[in-house]
Amino acid sequence: MRVVSWRDRLRPELWAVQAYSVPAQEVPVKLDANENPYHLSDDARADLARELARIDLNRYPDPRATRLKEALAESLGVMPEQVLLGCGVDEIIGLLATAFARPPEGRSQAAVMYPWPSFAMFRITSQAHGLRLVEVPLDEAWQLRADRALGAIEAEDPGVIFFPSPNNPTGNRLDPEVMRAVIESTPGALTVVDEAYFDFCGSTLLPLVHAHPGLAVFRTLSKMGLAGLRVGALVGHPDLVRELDKARQPYNLNALSQRAAELALTRFKDELAGQARRIVVDREKLSSALRELPGMTVFPSDANFILIRLAANASEVWEKLLAQGVLVRNLDAPGPLAGCLRVTVGTPAENERFLETLAGILNR
Ligand SMILES: *Cc1c(COP(=O)(O)O)cnc(C)c1O
Repeated sequence: MRVVSWRDRLRPELWAVQAYSVPAQEVPVKLDANENPYHLSDDARADLARELARIDLNRYPDPRATRLKEALAESLGVMPEQVLLGCGVDEIIGLLATAFARPPEGRSQAAVMYPWPSFAMFRITSQAHGLRLVEVPLDEAWQLRADRALGAIEAEDPGVIFFPSPNNPTGNRLDPEVMRAVIESTPGALTVVDEAYFDFCGSTLLPLVHAHPGLAVFRTLSKMGLAGLRVGALVGHPDLVRELDKARQPYNLNALSQRAAELALTRFKDELAGQARRIVVDREKLSSALRELPGMTVFPSDANFILIRLAANASEVWEKLLAQGVLVRNLDAPGPLAGCLRVTVGTPAENERFLETLAGILNR
């Protein structure tokens, strides 16, 4: 075949990828991206500005991010050699897709497994890397079923398994016993428990990392209040970290993010933890208030957002919310999330405005 266009050189899977879409609008009440609604106090911001002003931006950043890695390892109770840092967890998902691309014996393609519905980047990144997608459907309570997970592993032989817990967009934790059963019975795959929402639930499989070389855990600073920094981490076996590190760009974390993240984990730690506690309290208030609205199913959440299912046409409701300045995530599409919207817990004022607007739309 004569190649007539660069298009023919593209990975064919790429044509099928639906890009991650982020709405461009500036809205008064932005509750669509699971961000922390609070910023740092004025004192902390002034302190941060002074610290960042001292950085020599004419120099490349520390390619090993030594100080940040030490601060994170210390806060997690692990060794720095167990930590891989990325430009968000998103980058690390890409590193795993690059590294774990070797097809298992007798197959033409490596596979990645994750529950569905879950985090869109597992699908998008794996697809863009030409990996086979193994999506294990969650049950009606959004729970992972051991028989389905183990059956899919047996049939598809995935190299990497992602377990987001708490899961996005469903909000619940996956059953730790099921995850543990998969980890213990599948030494031939890397299982990654994605704990992006750890700060709002507190439960973790991190201690299992020491006993299981085939287990790693994701953590990120994004959901706890520093989404703009783009700092995420994988914690796992030092051998795994060493191999993945070869695929990492040496300067993937810029100097400003390295220093700011280090301060977030040390000097600003208590302030950020206080914000997370406030969000958890407000999550429960918002859930209760949502349950009072007509035709509403409110799923329990261990994260900083709430998944709801509406009896009304959810896409229409979403449009009307947006028209009145409230942006949430529209998940309404044929399939398990039909009729669903996801709302991030905002400030009390934002939550109130969302509730009033939604009630107005539903009661009309
Ligand atoms: C938001 C989110 C991430 C992304 O984390 P970044 O560090 O911002 O890239 C990862 N996993 C899940 C489940 C998320 O919801």
